[in-house]
Amino acid sequence: MQAEPQTRETILILGGTREAAELAKQLVARHPQARIITSLAGRTKEPAPLAGEVRVGGFGGPEGLARFLIDNTVTRLIDATHPFARQISTNAVTAAKIAGIPLEVKTREPWRRQPDDHWIEVGSLEQARDAIPAGARVLLALGSQHIDLFKTRDDVHFVVRMVDPPQTPLALADHALVIGRPGDTAATETMLLIAHAITHIVCRNSGGKAAYAKIEAARQMGMPVIIVSR
Ligand code: NAP
Repeated sequence: MQAEPQTRETILILGGTREAAELAKQLVARHPQARIITSLAGRTKEPAPLAGEVRVGGFGGPEGLARFLIDNTVTRLIDATHPFARQISTNAVTAAKIAGIPLEVKTREPWRRQPDDHWIEVGSLEQARDAIPAGARVLLALGSQHIDLFKTRDDVHFVVRMVDPPQTPLALADHALVIGRPGDTAATETMLLIAHAITHIVCRNSGGKAAYAKIEAARQMGMPVIIVSR
């Protein structure tokens, strides 16, 4: 007797963002028969709970991802990763081709400068580091892997916000640590900026709602934002 052809849809979301979590929730609700899997790189120790299945860790390059797609008979691949997570997005293009399945890209649009924004737009994190004036008090709103780059700026006070406490002490000479996720509202972010007497924010133009509150707070306070463009 011949086996029944598999008809159950399997969707793999490359995640690690709030938008990917929202998408998983929508897809699980809309396609109750489908298998919805979110893939996380495993950078966050305690990620927020997700709808559907979750798998964690790298695939082993584009070939590894293609192997996962084939082995799990994935029918749709959705790239909902962070816009600055470039490697996994490149891998997704190659892997989808190898596996012969469609790739949907749902990465966020960048933020657009508003008339009252005081943005200093730069092309790289190195340029952002060099654009900080001596004596500034900076909210460094970046992932933990980018903090080391700023260690040469011992003439600047940094406030570093991280979701998880760092495993080793930060290499920055003069800094304060704030453990937690970004505030949801401009008012919350304003309180943080005032409490630490921040003069500048350094961040990347990530787009999306989750990290926008600090941009709004800076706008309201007339504070310069040194922002890395895509
Ligand atoms: P990346 O530089 O593009 O990827 C580096 C490697 O990490 C990839 O080659 C892949 O390993 C693995 N990887 C990345 N995302 C993965 C995922 N969703 N599932 C399984 N493996 C993944 O990525 P990144 O900038 O380190 O970001 C890692 C994750 O954090 C992403 O899921 C991203 O959405 C999220 N995130 C990133 C940022 C950011 O600023 N970059 C901010 C917020 C959230 P293999 O080659 O072994 O498959």
